[in-house]
Amino acid sequence: MAKQDYYDLLGVSRSAKADELKKAYRKLAMKYHPDKNPGDKESEKKFKEINEAYEILKDDQKRAAYDRMGHAAFEGGMGGGGGANQAGGFDFSSAGFGNIFDDVFADFMGGGGRQRQTEASLRGSDLRYNMEISFEDAFTGLKKNIKIPTNTTCDKCHGSGAAEGSKPEMCPTCHGQGKIHARQGFFTIERACATCHGLGQVIKNPCKNCHGSGRVRKEKTLSVTIPAGIEEGSRIRLSGEGEAGLRGGTPGDLYIFLHVKPHKFFHRDGSNIYCQVPIAMTTATLGGEIEVPSIDGHKVRVTIPEGTQSGKQFRLKGKGMSILRSSSRGDMYIQTQVETPVSLTKRQKELLEEFAGLEEKSHSSPLSEGFFAKIKEFWSDKKE
Ligand SMILES: [Zn+2]
Ligand SMILES: [Zn+2]
Repeated sequence: MAKQDYYDLLGVSRSAKADELKKAYRKLAMKYHPDKNPGDKESEKKFKEINEAYEILKDDQKRAAYDRMGHAAFEGGMGGGGGANQAGGFDFSSAGFGNIFDDVFADFMGGGGRQRQTEASLRGSDLRYNMEISFEDAFTGLKKNIKIPTNTTCDKCHGSGAAEGSKPEMCPTCHGQGKIHARQGFFTIERACATCHGLGQVIKNPCKNCHGSGRVRKEKTLSVTIPAGIEEGSRIRLSGEGEAGLRGGTPGDLYIFLHVKPHKFFHRDGSNIYCQVPIAMTTATLGGEIEVPSIDGHKVRVTIPEGTQSGKQFRLKGKGMSILRSSSRGDMYIQTQVETPVSLTKRQKELLEEFAGLEEKSHSSPLSEGFFAKIKEFWSDKKE
């Protein structure tokens, strides 16, 4: 079943602002919250869907990706997810919606128990880039410059978020601990510091360029090397090339999802290349030479022996696909397709008729003779 549009799910327009989204999400989340609808599978499903939608749309980066590519922007490995370079844990859509839920409701309810900001939450998001390359490019490998709109480290404050000439200061509330201890009856409870949101530092004078976040929106150009022999559906991970972290946090990773376009007449299986080649009936019968193209752009001469049947495979050693991280190549297999002649001239017909008249004496079609001999036996067995 097709996934529902995120904007439709939240009942907002595509131009909805952040606060509008938040409001719509809150309303729906209250309505479909599992605590309010115990045992109702439909509500539970809806609750998950709106959480997923909000998680994507609240993030400018993910929202932009969604606007551009739709749900495809967040789907897992393509083409059955095979042959991935990195299987590593990355999935935009499932990153703990518990957190956003708590986040939204915490400030809704007066900012009490805000989620503790950990190092991990300062980490920049991972980005996905879909790249389509030709079959030939997969053979040769290629270098390509790609442009990705992303958040990069602010160069005015070098990611600290503090204005020029100033520095983030130790949080006066928690003395840099990021957490405070509060007594509640007999217990001491540890809580994230509300002043610095668990960061341990505060910025008194935020950088004007990035408004204290330490990063700015920018289009980044990256040079990407696609190795020769890469397979359809591969993922390439560029560590640290994702979104910049918040206030100098670790950057995310960039994942390139590769789609190799099918070729007009080559077909690939692992490192081997297959190609069907039609040959003339006379070449198949009398033998001869044909020329076939190979993926490296050259021509290869193939000797067709006398009496070649349709479907016969010839192996051209070392003429196949590049093998990843190796200088050797797979093999190429060509499979003959003997073509029955059409639109014959009068003279051609005469010659073939003459040929047909001679065929019975010469036993030049042993396969059909053998087959029809078997059929004769089959019929005579039936009569008995
Ligand atoms: Zn800055
Ligand atoms: Zn603090």
